Amino acid sequence: MSLKKGLVIKTTGSWFNVKREDGLEINCKIKGNFRIKGIKSTNPLAVGDYVLFKILQTEKGPKGETIGLITEVLDRKNYIVRRSQNLSKLSQVIAANIDQALLIVTLEFPVTSTTFIDRYLASAEAYRIPVILIFNKMDLIRPGQLKKIEHLIKLYEGIGYTCLKTSAETQMGMPELKALMINKKSLFSGLSGVGKSTIINLLQPGLNLKTKEISELYKTGKHTTTYSEMHELDFGGYIIDTPGIKAFGMLDMEDWEISHYFREIFELSSECQYNNCAHTHEPGCAVKQAVRDGKIAESRYASYIGLLGKDEKYRPPY
Ligand code: GDP
Ligand code: ZN
Repeated sequence: MSLKKGLVIKTTGSWFNVKREDGLEINCKIKGNFRIKGIKSTNPLAVGDYVLFKILQTEKGPKGETIGLITEVLDRKNYIVRRSQNLSKLSQVIAANIDQALLIVTLEFPVTSTTFIDRYLASAEAYRIPVILIFNKMDLIRPGQLKKIEHLIKLYEGIGYTCLKTSAETQMGMPELKALMINKKSLFSGLSGVGKSTIINLLQPGLNLKTKEISELYKTGKHTTTYSEMHELDFGGYIIDTPGIKAFGMLDMEDWEISHYFREIFELSSECQYNNCAHTHEPGCAVKQAVRDGKIAESRYASYIGLLGKDEKYRPPY
């Protein structure tokens, strides 16, 4: 029996909806002993996984439909996890092979702080997921605030992050956003109220994401099955909809790791006097010098120190 390659686009506990390369969707099961080496997770597969499967000849699904059996999962380029609520210390893989995370931010209504942005960026670096910063609600920006936005864009573009200004109200930036999303698997993130649902609705009218309602269910503990889904976009590509999206950005990191996830800090660290420099109290620190020289933004350094959980005295201004 020949094996076919497919993409997992929906998981509901023990069933996996797999999209074959020719577009056909097939409900698949997995072998009971299916495990991925090196990962201690409660679920062996997640949306975004590429799998090999075979059609079962003798068995049919609940509605008499053809079903498949997944025999292998192909290597993941990345994946995001959510820690289990129980004490087993197992994590739950919530999505794999994510091409990009779109972080929607707003200057006001609500205020998205640079601390929040930087924490998110650091977590995404840890997960090896590229982030695009979307500055939404541009229609609400008063002339005096434009400078602030431009300053932030310059800061983050300077570090290497793509930035885009949008307004769901005037549709500013929507064609550009579409262009960035074509044929990619995108994750939407951002504080509540920044406009995620509104933007998604503009991109694909009628798409009702379940993210919110599911994460509420998780909180009350009523929902136990692993649910996640990827929605195909008419213009090509997917939006990943999982209950774990909210948890993304709260990754636990060791101190030594944190500096690796601030790109511009990591780049300079080789010039520090000590090769294990934490860029806090050490003499001859190239990072602190760069902050003094204005080459590294004070807000970024402050976020870094904040993530280290270090004493106030290391925070700017100096
Ligand atoms: P979510 O929590 O991130 O999904 O945010 P919503 O999409 O629910 O949006 C929150 C509120 O902001 C709604 O009242 C939207 O109509 C409004 N909103 C979203 N985008 C914009 C925008 O670009 N401009 C303005 N003025 N309002 C917006
Ligand atoms: Zn240093």
